[in-house]
Amino acid sequence: MDYDALFSSQLDALRREGNYRVFAELERYRGNFPRARRHCGDGPSDVTVWCSNDYLGMGQNPEVLAAMHEALDRCGAGAGGTRNISGTNHYHVLLERELADLHGKEAALLFTSGYVSNWASLGTLGARLPNAVILSDALNHASMIEGIRHARCEKVIWRHNDVRDLDDKLSRIEPGRPKIVAFESVYSMDGDICPMEEILDVAEKHGAMTYLDEVHAVGLYGPRGGGVAEERGLMDRVTLIEGTLGKAFGVVGGFITGSAALCDFIRSFSSGFIFTTALPPAVAAGALASIRHLKRSDAERRRQREMVAKLRARLDQVGIPHLWNPSHIVPVMVGDPVKCKMLSDILLDDHGIYVQPINYPTVPKGSERLRLTPSPLHTDADLDHLVRALSSLWSHCALSRAVA
Ligand SMILES: *Cc1c(COP(=O)(O)O)cnc(C)c1O
Repeated sequence: MDYDALFSSQLDALRREGNYRVFAELERYRGNFPRARRHCGDGPSDVTVWCSNDYLGMGQNPEVLAAMHEALDRCGAGAGGTRNISGTNHYHVLLERELADLHGKEAALLFTSGYVSNWASLGTLGARLPNAVILSDALNHASMIEGIRHARCEKVIWRHNDVRDLDDKLSRIEPGRPKIVAFESVYSMDGDICPMEEILDVAEKHGAMTYLDEVHAVGLYGPRGGGVAEERGLMDRVTLIEGTLGKAFGVVGGFITGSAALCDFIRSFSSGFIFTTALPPAVAAGALASIRHLKRSDAERRRQREMVAKLRARLDQVGIPHLWNPSHIVPVMVGDPVKCKMLSDILLDDHGIYVQPINYPTVPKGSERLRLTPSPLHTDADLDHLVRALSSLWSHCALSRAVA
């Protein structure tokens, strides 16, 4: 058996479709977001990153770096074990308290990533709650889908953000069964935001618990960065809020928050929580500093919103089509995988602008895009440079412009 030939034939198919993933090799500069050095065949060159999920540049924030240095010097490199076997560091406990407070919940639980937190929590809830049904929004993230699959309970998919469809589907389930409505606040590819209050109304009407992924909202929305649920005054109505420490908080890790009983349940039964080494103490310390900073400071959020508005206005001026949404994500629609990749390559090679092409299966075929994430640290000159480059490439690639 030629196994490599089996691997290669599938990879070749991916390449033919224009969906083969090529990573940009970057060296981020400390304290200099969004600048990075890019390594490639022609040697290194400097680029401006326009597609980072380090939405506020907190990964380069001096308070975060100082906290990580201090914890590294106090505690050393790794946690030294799973949470159960010697790996629970003081910083983990402080961070869990901070997260519970951020979302106004009794308790929180850390995971090694947001992906793992969704996979492990939905998997455990669906498997352990007797005769459970999970009602999943059609556009939920891969980590939630995999968690639901792992739960092996009944799954019902409701139309994206469609509260009537959810109501309908909940009505068909016997009232006595445990029901989990799983959804996100900000959807990362279109940047749309769910009708949260209506979803909660419907879930409550049917006695369902709610599982909310606020990965693209924590740190960014609400007066203390508690997410869209905080902004809309709805945190106490959501049963479980899940988030990441790797996007707006700029470090790495995932978490859930909820009642003490809920977090204790996941802590006690979830394989993805139990059987893995705890996060390094320095990572927990950095996340703690980042959350504390963004609880107090609104400057980063305000400046980010300004940059998002400016970018949208400039794109409109030159007729570059972008998807409207109420969030911080600006999807520039290309609609063709090969052109999308070509645009991204030229921006990177000729203009020092890095924005990764987003192709199928991350987004549906025909909706290929460049997903721009303006941050508080991009300058007006960065913005100018980006819009000029995009505008010239739009003509070069014979892409159609939006009518102003
Ligand atoms: C990125 C992402 C995750 C996973 O979070 P990580 O911390 O990066 O593993 C979960 N949910 C959504 C919606 C995401 O976009």
